Amino acid sequence: MNKWVYLFKEGNADMRNLLGGKGANLAEMTNLGLPVPQGFTITTEACTQYYEDGREINDEIKAQIDEHIIKMEEITGKKFGDKQNPLLVSVRSGARASMPGMMDTILNLGLNEDVVNTIADLSKNPRWAWDCYRRFIQMYSDVVMEVGKKYFEELIDQMKEKRGVKQDVELTADDLKELAGQFKAEYKDKIGADFPDDPKEQLYGAIKAVFRSWDNPRANVYRRDNDIPYSWGTAVNVQSMAFGNMGDDCGTGVAFTRDPATGNKGLFGEFLTNAQGEDVVAGVRTPMPIAQMAEQFPEAYADFVKVCDVLEKHYRDMQDMEFTVENGKLYMLQCRNGKRTAQAALKIACDLVDEGMRTEEEAVAMIDPRNLDTLLHPQFDAAALKKAQPIGKGLGASPGAACGKIVFTAEDAEAWANRGEKVVLVRLETSPEDITGMKSAQGILTVRGGMTSHAAVVARGMGKCCVSGCGEIAMDEENKKFTLAGKTFHEGDFISIDGTTGNIYDGLIPTVDATIAGEFGRIMAWADKYRRLRVRTNADTPTDAKKARELGAEGIGLCRTEHMFFEEDRIAAFREMICADTAEAREKALDKILPYQQSDFKALYEALEGNPVTIRFLDPPLHEFVPHEEAEQKKLADALGKSLDEVKAIVEGLKEFNPMMGHRGCRLAVTYPEIAKMQTKAVIRAAIEVQKEHADWNVKPEIMIPLVGDIKELKYVKKFVVETADAEIEAAGVKLEYEVGTMIEIPRAALTADEIAKEADFFCFGTNDLTQMTFGFSRDDAGKFLDAYYDAKIFENDPFAKLDQDGVGKLMETALKLGKPENPKLHCGICGEHGGDPTSVEFCNKIGLDYVSCSPFRVPIARLAAAQAAIAQKA
Ligand code: ADP
Ligand code: MG
Ligand code: MG
Repeated sequence: MNKWVYLFKEGNADMRNLLGGKGANLAEMTNLGLPVPQGFTITTEACTQYYEDGREINDEIKAQIDEHIIKMEEITGKKFGDKQNPLLVSVRSGARASMPGMMDTILNLGLNEDVVNTIADLSKNPRWAWDCYRRFIQMYSDVVMEVGKKYFEELIDQMKEKRGVKQDVELTADDLKELAGQFKAEYKDKIGADFPDDPKEQLYGAIKAVFRSWDNPRANVYRRDNDIPYSWGTAVNVQSMAFGNMGDDCGTGVAFTRDPATGNKGLFGEFLTNAQGEDVVAGVRTPMPIAQMAEQFPEAYADFVKVCDVLEKHYRDMQDMEFTVENGKLYMLQCRNGKRTAQAALKIACDLVDEGMRTEEEAVAMIDPRNLDTLLHPQFDAAALKKAQPIGKGLGASPGAACGKIVFTAEDAEAWANRGEKVVLVRLETSPEDITGMKSAQGILTVRGGMTSHAAVVARGMGKCCVSGCGEIAMDEENKKFTLAGKTFHEGDFISIDGTTGNIYDGLIPTVDATIAGEFGRIMAWADKYRRLRVRTNADTPTDAKKARELGAEGIGLCRTEHMFFEEDRIAAFREMICADTAEAREKALDKILPYQQSDFKALYEALEGNPVTIRFLDPPLHEFVPHEEAEQKKLADALGKSLDEVKAIVEGLKEFNPMMGHRGCRLAVTYPEIAKMQTKAVIRAAIEVQKEHADWNVKPEIMIPLVGDIKELKYVKKFVVETADAEIEAAGVKLEYEVGTMIEIPRAALTADEIAKEADFFCFGTNDLTQMTFGFSRDDAGKFLDAYYDAKIFENDPFAKLDQDGVGKLMETALKLGKPENPKLHCGICGEHGGDPTSVEFCNKIGLDYVSCSPFRVPIARLAAAQAAIAQKA
């Protein structure tokens, strides 16, 4: 029989896959002897089983849950629904990877009218008892029955108004009792049945709700963004309650052992007296800094400091903890390796190495490569920033610089960003529903909430700039405006925010590029030490190439030459070439382009300082280069001495039903060899020049023939490339080595790679086209139906962003297996979008590619991912 349920004391931290992160760590803390309210964990496998059973909890699992309720009652000495000593529990979700704010927790489960009266009498604290009950009804209704928080919040606000008070804590026992009654009425009204009184019925309702929440839209989006597979499922933790809301010697807090924004060592967190659960992060009341807790709760604080030390040493990483103080006594409710900004991650990893807690390899493995993105993106220009006068200040909750137009809702943020606007999302506070909007914004500014508020935590996770808790803002969300420093800001006005200092500025402040230095530099140097895969860049211009070199690129894996044709001075000559009637006329036009190409290539070789440069020959269909508007066509006709109709006929003639599968790639070289010849001349001449000027460099051009599907295509094109190149070299009277290889981007090329390898010096997997051709759908149109595919669970990811290892990956492996034995010198890389995606990089390392090539800003990410892949492979 399968074991579906574990007591906390039966688990440990290594059982994360089965018990989820929260459950595994609750078990580990229990084993370490820390004060954890006891309970049990229903496994992630039970969640998967629940879905397999058609969203039902089967009898075997039920039996084990029932058995563990009894065990829990024995351990705690309390009983569900008991008149003497009733058991109240929380029901908490917990997946393998932490998904903040994604799953919903229910507190104080087990209450009904009888039990409330019992605990009110026993504790002589009816206010607390009724506070628990109204919270429970609220959470249960929201999470289990999806009644919607809004109604309850409104009822609370009405009650506060009626009583003339501002804070929830000012409401009396009677007020709360009345509220509980109203809540139940609201529930009955919306659901059509009485609020459940039976604790066991409540418990099963809650457990199912947690399982269900694994499949809610927010969770699905979060998983896609964070590479978390749907198949993992979530565990459910049932834990006896610790009460932070029993009075002024109680409270609840969250804390980190190091500052999650900067990485600086030292306790960092917040504490709220007489509060429960999410109160501290919800931003409803402003919590006190953790240090202040030392004065008001000296014993609990001293205990907590000890616990922090134990946990950090035990996990050898910065810890993020949730705890509650009940009548002066400390209870630990959660610990995990804390989420942190990219900057903090680098600092903490370096510090842990310096403190002797971690090896260099472990430090490298600790950094999430995707987070580096923020550090590579622009920061405010220091000079401009110095001159700018902040108009307000909030908490620097997630570093980085952001400027853009103000929007007030997540939907607007998304819509505006989709039409290319840079926006800053300004909200009273954020909630999990806002995640997609937060993602679309440059930065997030909130009026309420501390460093651990939803906005702060989620923004840090996303690596998005966030300033939270700027109470000076007088917000009018309804009318989409706010006032700050005497000025009213409307939707669409520009604002700049600094997520490091928390400063807010009116208008736009210019930004500058970031550099790799300090701890970033140290980590990258370690990464370089431990990786095997080389990292190149996709760069078409010397500027991009230089940027990529700064970021550590070791070569160019893909230069798309066509991008060079679009510039003002060349496009005319190129169009002349396209419109030419004879090969001679074409050659004449190409002769005009040759010097431009040559100087472009020269600048690229110079930028790369002797490192390899792969130049792909003309790839797109010619139709992309000709004008489509009549005025432009007329201009072209005049320049060429042709009639407008003639030009129109040429443009018409280039039209294809399916240009991506049309006259492009090496097919262009087959029909117009003179284009490839001109490009060969440019490549070789530029290389000869640069080699002459820099004798110490090894300039060895790599010519890449695109879209080959048959060995004969490659052979045919290669022949005149080699003839042209050799003639150039001989004429110059120099020695120059060069290579001719191909892009593997058509499935047939992968399947016949043994043949192709005989003629190719290298393979470069063009996984954008390869993905398109393997799936048989266009990357430009897939966006239209991918969402439906996600919803239907056909796809979990965009295969154009994350390599499809099972299909496209298999073709790559096939090509390597077939190709390498035929040509031992064959070198192989990847140059699709996937070259900068960490999980795809891991795959490339595994199948033995020599390099990955990605856009300049992804180069550090790829370096780190390559190191992590190598380190993981060794372990
Ligand atoms: P999340 O994963 O969203 O943080 P949690 O399951 O950790 O959700 O719970 C939400 C809040 O409820 C947290 O503040 C947590 O500390 C609190 N909480 C959960 N279980 C208990 C419990 N048994 N006693 C007291 N507070 C609890
Ligand atoms: Mg938590
Ligand atoms: Mg391609």
